[in-house]
Amino acid sequence: MKKKFILYNTLTRKKEIFEPLNPPVVTLYTCGPTVYDYTHIGHMRTYTNNDVLRRALEYYGYKVNHVMNITDVGHLTDDADSGEDKLEKGAKKHKKTVWEVAEYFTDYFFKTMHALNIKRPTVVCKATDHVKEMIELIKKLEEKGYTYETDEAIYFDVSKFKDYGKLSGQSLEEKIVGAREEVHVDPQKKHPADFSLWFKRVGRFKNHTMHWDSPWGDGFPGWHIECSAMSMKYLGETIDIHAGGEDHIPVHHENEIAQSEAATDKQFVRFWFHNAHLVVDGKKMSKSLGNFYTLDDLLKRNFDPLSARLLFLQTHYRQQLNFTWQALKSSQNALENLRDKVQELLFLVQKDKSEDKKLFEKYKKKFQSFVFDDLNMPRALSVLWEVVDSPEIPPKTKLDLIYDFDQVLGLKLSQIKLPEIPKEILKLAEERKKLRKNKKFEEADKIREEIRKKGYEIVDTERGYVIKAQSAKRKSQN
Ligand code: AMP
Ligand code: ZN
Repeated sequence: MKKKFILYNTLTRKKEIFEPLNPPVVTLYTCGPTVYDYTHIGHMRTYTNNDVLRRALEYYGYKVNHVMNITDVGHLTDDADSGEDKLEKGAKKHKKTVWEVAEYFTDYFFKTMHALNIKRPTVVCKATDHVKEMIELIKKLEEKGYTYETDEAIYFDVSKFKDYGKLSGQSLEEKIVGAREEVHVDPQKKHPADFSLWFKRVGRFKNHTMHWDSPWGDGFPGWHIECSAMSMKYLGETIDIHAGGEDHIPVHHENEIAQSEAATDKQFVRFWFHNAHLVVDGKKMSKSLGNFYTLDDLLKRNFDPLSARLLFLQTHYRQQLNFTWQALKSSQNALENLRDKVQELLFLVQKDKSEDKKLFEKYKKKFQSFVFDDLNMPRALSVLWEVVDSPEIPPKTKLDLIYDFDQVLGLKLSQIKLPEIPKEILKLAEERKKLRKNKKFEEADKIREEIRKKGYEIVDTERGYVIKAQSAKRKSQN
């Protein structure tokens, strides 16, 4: 019997068997970035883990229909409707228009995703391209009596939605405590947890750059409504999995559930997948602490971005990750080792193409038992190392296993090529082999030295010698 795909569900707070509503298709929605500033390593972690989820589902045999939004309007500096629009703030800070800021940071986001080998979602949708759909959804909520209007905005009335708080497990009273820090409070707002569906272009927003016509006058949408509107448009009213960072549980995702289920009377999301945060040296990442790192910071320090991917794989997605440069350095070394091993195997496979199907199945099953158990990637990685180091697995089977695992790991191991070794070097290596066979070790060592001087290295393994180009072992310089 095929192993079940187990996933932790924030909604039920337990691990459950995951099966899509309409197999083999899995509908997956991930909250995308708010594009007002640089993508940082915290984002990198969350989107790498989302990518691992998608790859694991595909590896299991599902077809993933993956939608991700780009938030380019309406996300205020405080999730609970106070503060200013992050895009407007970003525009001022970077001396660009809001549209330029959105484009610039969307590009930077995808550049970062590409460097981490994160698959592009099937559909990428911008909030500003879906204002019409958001207005339709707000109208529906209005017709069903879930909204009220003030001089400043249209709000969702959380007291009308009986399940409000089911994701975070917080009661409305607890939400009141959580909301006391608000900077600006609309005096007509009834409950601090009520959230804006539409902001009017008045008062603090009278100069808001992005604005659209609506039944409630000129204005712009609140942040939460975009995810419900776009998720419904592209994936239907009930979706299989919704992913995001853990910070979204108490407000953004709670609000998405309320407005979606109020509108459709159907369950919005079957499985909620949340990533724990990344902190730096034990502290929250922030510009003021100078610990806010981007793709360029990694590149400047000569790190291969894939070493960050490997670092993320080493911690379970539901556990906080404490980022240090030292840990990244260890990952980079491990990645280089792995690449070296793949090169060795490629060399050995030229001469020995024997396979062991039983061992292939044994290790594949072991790898899968961890991947399909709520993405236990740290344990899955240990199986990779076990395979790499195992003396019993023939080189061809090792390579097949590594390539198979890499469909989930995404470390581009199948793209590693064997460097072309000049005939002269191959000849010297054969000579050395003969000398060693005849126990002429001193002469053999001289040849090894000669090979090294010509830029190649000869390594003896249980399965014979391997020649490597020295340049293949890249050195990290920080
Ligand atoms: P934002 O652009 O702030 O809306 O964030 C985009 C995604 O990245 C959300 O799912 C956030 O939860 C996630 N995220 C933001 N900061 C971090 C962090 N430090 N660690 C992990 N994920 C984060
Ligand atoms: Zn969202």
